[in-house]
Amino acid sequence: MTRLQLQNVSFSYPCGRMLHDISLHVRDGEFVGLIGPNGSGKSTLLKLIYRALRPECGEILLDGEDLLKMPFRKSALKMAVVGQENEIPFDFSVEEIVAMGRSPHKKLFDSDTEEDHRMVHHALEHLGIEDLAKRNYRHLSGGEKQRVLISRAIAQESDFLILDEPTNHLDISYQMQIFDFIKRLNVTVLSAIHDLNMAALYCDRLYVIEKGHLVLEGTPEEVLTPGNIRRIYGVESSVSRHPATGKLSIAFLPASVQASPMIQNTNQNKVEREYVS
Ligand code: ADP
Ligand code: MG
Repeated sequence: MTRLQLQNVSFSYPCGRMLHDISLHVRDGEFVGLIGPNGSGKSTLLKLIYRALRPECGEILLDGEDLLKMPFRKSALKMAVVGQENEIPFDFSVEEIVAMGRSPHKKLFDSDTEEDHRMVHHALEHLGIEDLAKRNYRHLSGGEKQRVLISRAIAQESDFLILDEPTNHLDISYQMQIFDFIKRLNVTVLSAIHDLNMAALYCDRLYVIEKGHLVLEGTPEEVLTPGNIRRIYGVESSVSRHPATGKLSIAFLPASVQASPMIQNTNQNKVEREYVS
């Protein structure tokens, strides 16, 4: 079943066209990554999906229904979002922020139920931040804020997560912990990810966006080849399959070793997906 479908979606900022004729889909249960250089339009594309921006043309379907006409409460029950900017302009405690995730489940001015409290604490516990519950959100570190917002998405209990570089401010242990945790939730995920090794470890399928165009789609094996990495990022790499994870592992090569005859790309003999810029 297709959860999300974008058909020929375009978007312009006042300074000009940013996204060009984007078509993509996310199937039920898939973990789909959106990768591409800085400024290529990943956050803009996700903002169209969580309706912080409105497409200029094209169609977005969520569970087969026109997302642009769907009441916000209904889409919030289906889809939770962790955006890239994590500033909140007022003083709220961590607990209050996470409790906001419960609002689509309630009517305006309904007070919190036992179930709401349980879900909030369950979410805080899962992200290892119960001890932050009473703290002022604005006084937290970037990594702590990121975990609070992921907790809020978990407390929302929707089975489709839209994430914009969710582990950006986190050190490697939390990065792994959060992706492992999200993976275990067995929900559908569409996430912008800037770390290609993380994308290789966790994603079933990847889309590559470059200068507002989708240029490539496929499994990590199809997309993350040294040739594609060179074309997209201008960086040489060596890609191998890690014996422990069975997933691709990418080593980036500094200019000083690029000329070395020792470097061999292990998937050189694979057919690379055609790059369509
Ligand atoms: P990414 O998430 O891939 O790094 P973004 O979607 O954030 O890229 O940005 C894509 C481009 O759009 C960038 O050049 C950025 O400067 C521009 N941009 C982002 N937000 C705005 C805005 N509100 N107004 C004008 N341009 C913007
Ligand atoms: Mg971004």
